[in-house]
Amino acid sequence: MRITAIAGGVGGARFVRGLRHHLDTTPDLADSEVTVVANTGDDITLFGLRVCPDVDTLLYTLGGGVDEGQGWGRADEGVRVQEELAAYGAQPQWFRLGDRDLGTHIARSQWLGQGQSLSQVTARLARRWGLPGRRITLLPMTDTPVETHVVVEDGDDERAIHFQEWWVRHQAALPARRFVVAGLERAHPAPGVLDAIRQADVVLLPPSNPVVSIGIVLGVPGVRDALRGTAAPVVGVSPLISGRPVRGHADACLRAIGVEPSAQAVGGLYEDFLDAWLVDPADAGATLRRARVEAFDGPLLMSDVEATGRIAAHALRLATAVSA
Ligand code: GDP
Ligand code: CA
Repeated sequence: MRITAIAGGVGGARFVRGLRHHLDTTPDLADSEVTVVANTGDDITLFGLRVCPDVDTLLYTLGGGVDEGQGWGRADEGVRVQEELAAYGAQPQWFRLGDRDLGTHIARSQWLGQGQSLSQVTARLARRWGLPGRRITLLPMTDTPVETHVVVEDGDDERAIHFQEWWVRHQAALPARRFVVAGLERAHPAPGVLDAIRQADVVLLPPSNPVVSIGIVLGVPGVRDALRGTAAPVVGVSPLISGRPVRGHADACLRAIGVEPSAQAVGGLYEDFLDAWLVDPADAGATLRRARVEAFDGPLLMSDVEATGRIAAHALRLATAVSA
């Protein structure tokens, strides 16, 4: 089976890890191939280095090097470099960059500087983390530099700040008026992205942020059309339970685009291509016009890899059910 998932950082990475666990422990499914299309709207240049937070979270989580407690960054991490930067007064200091993590950004920036595309660089980083051997292909959504900015209120006026500054520095507490994605309309899907959607047997939407993770990938010209046109069933997993994100600030992001924070409303954002939507039992009453809504038989929580594997298994059963 060829499975394609569209993912942000922590939610996407944990889901794909659980999916892979389910596939690997199911004899008939073990040779399935998973392709992950990653959001790159979070990308930012810091200290001259290109940082791809969602791609890095996917690399570290799927490669076994993530800081489990945090959900992102490297395990067994130090901050000696950042301490030196602080001593020099180098800015910004609000974005935490660990020493091992910096190795990734330095390698990426060097290879990009040598003229390699972000897809080529990502494939190279993924080899180090053993992803090909685990039957995972990690694709950035685009090789075109794209950056999500947040238009926030500034007295009577407004100003745009980088998504990371809003999310990390301000904890999404500055009221957001809208999101503007620099470079998105001129972006091309990275090589392999559209084929991964069109030629998949199943397309999954992990419980990633619907606005600033999946929503950004959907904005890459051609991606949404590919999802509408694919013969594969498209099945999503809700990132919200009882109207609240399990972690992060998806509710603030939804409010900024005028969408009610609920599992039903998030499913509604995907109505034009979604075939099935998996929700928590607390949201069992949700309905969508086209897609089949089903409640998971337990909390929709990715508490560990086994629990996540059961969620992924349910999503795959739903895919079979809706395509029959
Ligand atoms: P980010 O880029 O690191 O913010 O990660 P994603 O966009 O991939 O995922 C963030 C979303 O994952 C948030 O909206 C969370 O509500 C959702 N999420 C995280 N953990 C869980 C979980 O255990 N269950 C569900 N249903 N959603 C989760
Ligand atoms: Ca992200």
